[in-house]
Amino acid sequence: MRQRWFVPERSGILSLEGAAAPYAAIWGRDVLTARLYPKYAATPTAGVHPATPQSFPRKYIFYGIIMTLSKETRIIRDAKELSAFVKSVKHDNKTIGLVPTMGYLHEGHLSLIRAARAKADVVIVSDFVNPTQFGPSEDYATYPRDEQADLAKVQSCGADILFIPTVETLYPNGQGSTWVEVQNLGNILCGASRPGHFRGVATVVTKLLWLSQADYAFFGEKDYQQLTILRRMAQDLGCPTEIIGMPLVREPDGLALSSRNVRLSPDARKQALSLSRGLKKARALFGQGCRDAQKLIAEAQSEIAAQPDTEIQYISLAHPDTLELYTQQVPDQVMMLMAVKVGGVRLIDNMRMDERC
Ligand code: AMP
Repeated sequence: MRQRWFVPERSGILSLEGAAAPYAAIWGRDVLTARLYPKYAATPTAGVHPATPQSFPRKYIFYGIIMTLSKETRIIRDAKELSAFVKSVKHDNKTIGLVPTMGYLHEGHLSLIRAARAKADVVIVSDFVNPTQFGPSEDYATYPRDEQADLAKVQSCGADILFIPTVETLYPNGQGSTWVEVQNLGNILCGASRPGHFRGVATVVTKLLWLSQADYAFFGEKDYQQLTILRRMAQDLGCPTEIIGMPLVREPDGLALSSRNVRLSPDARKQALSLSRGLKKARALFGQGCRDAQKLIAEAQSEIAAQPDTEIQYISLAHPDTLELYTQQVPDQVMMLMAVKVGGVRLIDNMRMDERC
C-alpha cells in the first residue's frame, strides 16, 4: 500500500501520495505554513500527521515543491557568523541537524540532507574538503569541487545553511595542533592503507559538531567504518549530538554513489560494477548457509579480480558494531567491507549479511 502524507491546508488537511509526497509534504509544510498560515507555523509539529484522507488538488504538490525550491539557502564561510546563527537558533529552542560533506554532492549526500530536513528544525550542510584526512600521495589537490552546483542541490533539499569554511577557518593554528583519534578502530580496514585518515576525519567532525552545536549529525553507511568510528568518538567524548547513520545509495546498476565516480573512465566504470556484484554473490552464498569467512571473501574476490584494472586493497568481514574482524567462522550478522582501486580510482563498498539474506 502506498503511504499517504497529510499537511495542514486552507480547507483542512491536504493529503499527498507517491514517492515525492513525503518530501513535498515536509517541505511544503515548512514553507507553506510559514508563509501562508503563521498560526500553523507557530506549532511546528502540526505538519505531518495521520488524518482522514480527503481528495486533494494535485497542484498543491507542485505548489509545495516550488515554494520549497524558492527557499533560500544561506552560505556562511566564517566560523563566527555560523556561531551567531547557531546561537539565535538555540535561543528559539529549535533543533539543528548537521550534514558534513566534502562537496561535489550527489544523491547519497542529498539523502542525508533530506533526512536532516525531516528530523531537525534547522539544517546545516558543510562543504569542506578536509586536508588532514588525505595522505601525502592522495588526491586532496584534485578532489572534485563545484560550489555552485552544490548550492543548488542543497537548496533543492531545503537546507538552511551551506557552511563553506576555508582551511584557515577550521585550522586556525595550522594542521596538527590538536587531534582527535579513535584508537584501534581507526587503524584497521581503510585505516591500514590510509594511515592518519580517520584521525583527520574525527578531528574535523569534532570541530564541525562544536561549531554547529548540532542535535543530530547524519552520516552515510557508504563510509561504514567512518560511521562506526564517529559513533564511538561521540560516545567516548560524551558528545550530546546524536549520530544518525543512513543507508548506502546506489546507482540503478549497483554502483555505490561517490564523488570520485566522476574520475572513472567508461571502461573503469563498467569494471567497478564488479564490487557490488561480488558483494551480492557473497551475500547469496551467506544466504545459502555458508559461514566460512574465507569462502565468502573468495566469492567476492573472484568476481572483482576477474576485471583487468582492479587492485583489491582489502575485502573483510566484520562485526556490524565493533568492526571486530572474522577470519574463520562468521556469525549470523556480519558486514562485508572492501576497498578496491579500479582504473586507479580508489572505491569503497560494503553490504550487510544477516538472517534476512
Ligand atoms: P563525503 O562527501 O564523501 O565525505 O561524504 C559525506 C557524507 O555523505 C558521508 O557521511 C558519506 O558516508 C555520505 N555518503 C557518500 N556517498 C554516499 C552514498 N552513496 N550513500 C549514502 N551516503 C553517502
